[in-house]
Amino acid sequence: MTALAAHYTPEHQMFRESCRRFFEKEVTPFHMKWEEDGVVPRELWRKAGAQGLLGMTMPEAYGGAGADFLYSAILIEEQGRALASGPAFSLHNDIVVPYLLHYGNEEQKQKWIPKAIAGELITAIAMTEPGTGSDLQSVKTNAVMDGNHWVINGSKTFISNGQLADLVIVVAKTDPKLGAKGTSLIAVETTTPGFKRGRNLEKIGMKAQDTSELFFDNVRVPADNLLGGPGMGFIQLMQQLPQERLVIAIQAIAAIETALAHTVAYTKERQAFGKPIIDFQNTRFKLAEVKTKATVARAFVDDCIARHLKKELDVATAAMAKYWTTDLQCEVMDECLQFFGGYGYMWEYPIARLYADSRVQKIYGGTNEIMKELIGRTL
Ligand SMILES: Cc1cc2nc3c(=O)[nH]c(=O)nc-3n(C[C@H](O)[C@H](O)[C@H](O)COP(=O)(O)OP(=O)(O)OC[C@H]3O[C@@H](n4cnc5c(N)ncnc54)[C@H](O)[C@@H]3O)c2cc1C
Repeated sequence: MTALAAHYTPEHQMFRESCRRFFEKEVTPFHMKWEEDGVVPRELWRKAGAQGLLGMTMPEAYGGAGADFLYSAILIEEQGRALASGPAFSLHNDIVVPYLLHYGNEEQKQKWIPKAIAGELITAIAMTEPGTGSDLQSVKTNAVMDGNHWVINGSKTFISNGQLADLVIVVAKTDPKLGAKGTSLIAVETTTPGFKRGRNLEKIGMKAQDTSELFFDNVRVPADNLLGGPGMGFIQLMQQLPQERLVIAIQAIAAIETALAHTVAYTKERQAFGKPIIDFQNTRFKLAEVKTKATVARAFVDDCIARHLKKELDVATAAMAKYWTTDLQCEVMDECLQFFGGYGYMWEYPIARLYADSRVQKIYGGTNEIMKELIGRTL
């Protein structure tokens, strides 16, 4: 039993079953087609909203269920088990919409959060630029006050939900002289003149998820669209990023467990030299190692979720979870794929998609090298 067991209620279990049914019915049969399209349909977001899978942790006052983070973790796990890397639900639920809740004013919360919960407003966060990713202090996108509007200029890249987003939280310099202290978060509705989407980028994995360039050419938004105060962007990002990193760690452990289950099933079925592959000692030993590492990782991630439920997950521990589980994820995918032989290299096999989807986990949400920097600073 892990640290998390005490937090589970029958309602959590019902929610897990509802997520599982949703992915089986609404996602799995269509996911291959969406991988070809490079994006999931907007209609899927509305269906997810109707099913209660979006913004469930938001307060009831804005149409949410006031649910705890364990519901988010369950959704991420079920999505991982279904190999449904297309819909960026957790980015929306656990990363972007919380910025609106924590830093938006009352009018903005009333305007945007209920629609985000219904799946009618899809969100994105735009930090990374062509010239800078890890070094966020160097963003060049800038916002200048003109009357009672901010005028935004710049470009972003690798933005998840970039093609679908109706609302983008943009990291911009409001006072370039001040570096981190001159950085702010500004909400931009994508119908605003001057906002343009660039290419839907072609990736080596997560092919059904849209990842795009975004351009801002004299985009004018009301002064109030700046979330919190001017220059607060960095502090706000630092406050919210541990949850983003925990989300990635949960995705990693879900993928590891899923890959192990597929691999055990396959090696029991596939024969070579007159016996199932699992009967070779090499297979059993390798899979024993994977099972052991998965068990250790699960205990750590569950402990992080339990800490997060108590609001006790610190920056360094979240960074450890992100870096260590995603490194492990890539290692495990490689080990597991090997047991599928040539079939493991074929897109139609789940292990091939798990392998391709895993690589980015060490990169986004802050690279694993940056995670080690964060941990190192606390020593
Ligand atoms: C599929 C996908 C989805 C993404 N979604 C989003 C999104 O929704 N929103 C968003 O804003 N961004 C998103 N990103 C961008 C992602 O967060 C960045 O790619 C990431 O932060 C790294 O930035 P970079 O690509 O500029 O690499 P760089 O910062 O140029 O890093 C290159 C290499 O140098 C290393 N490095 C950099 N600094 C240091 C240091 N101080 N010490 C040691 N090594 C260092 C890095 O670890 C890396 O290995 C996404 C990326 C991908 C691929």
